[in-house]
Amino acid sequence: MIKVSDITTYLKCPRMCYFMNRGHDLINEISSGYLERIILKELALTYDSAVLSNDNLSFLKTQLERISNEIRVIYPNELKNVDDETLEKSIAEVSSLLDTISSNLSLNNDFYSSEFVCDEPVLCSTKFELTGSPDRMIKINENFIPSIIKTGKMPENGVWQGDRLQLTAYSILVEEKFVSIIEKGFVEYARWGIVRPVVIKRHERRKVLQVRERIKKIQDGFMPERPGDAPCQYCGFTEICDVKSTLASKFF
Ligand code: SF4
Repeated sequence: MIKVSDITTYLKCPRMCYFMNRGHDLINEISSGYLERIILKELALTYDSAVLSNDNLSFLKTQLERISNEIRVIYPNELKNVDDETLEKSIAEVSSLLDTISSNLSLNNDFYSSEFVCDEPVLCSTKFELTGSPDRMIKINENFIPSIIKTGKMPENGVWQGDRLQLTAYSILVEEKFVSIIEKGFVEYARWGIVRPVVIKRHERRKVLQVRERIKKIQDGFMPERPGDAPCQYCGFTEICDVKSTLASKFF
């Protein structure tokens, strides 16, 4: 089985996908940025309820407090070595974003007035040997539609290409489960409280299936070439990937 997360990793760097398929863990230590992202993701799951409240800023503050008490239960493995002080700093960082999020939420009333069916449904396609869990499933006019929550940067317009392909992969899974055709999905940029619709395009469906074929080869043991634009500076695999000399040669 290939996971949708394998596809997103492959799009960052095919070799990263190779190492993770060989059982190497990419996250060596939990950074404050990672902590902030998981807190933001939990907070974003409450934005639809925030929109319905009379005072969405107070609502978000209350939710953040609840999350700070519950986060260790939701992510026990990820947070087992994180001390309280580090966690509090990340909560404070997210707290500083609440004014912006609160003022933007009303811009997405159409999205948030949809029916939120469930969070993180596990979807599986036996036909394409593909599995994954979109962050949310919403229902519009009797159609089930996937939505993904992103906690990093938001592009000026539209959505990032990787987000678009991830959503396309989930759409393929939703289509098989509900025997439907997905024409659009959503990307929720949690840091801003902004939601962007994405039209699911034919060439991206093709690309997802092509990447899936390449991942199958990786699972069979094929080591891909390092792409010229691989994000090696931010990668935890540089030691085993033997790219240090290549990186050094860029600077000397
Ligand atoms: S070190 Fe560079 S080439 Fe190797 S897996 Fe990481 S990003 Fe890819």
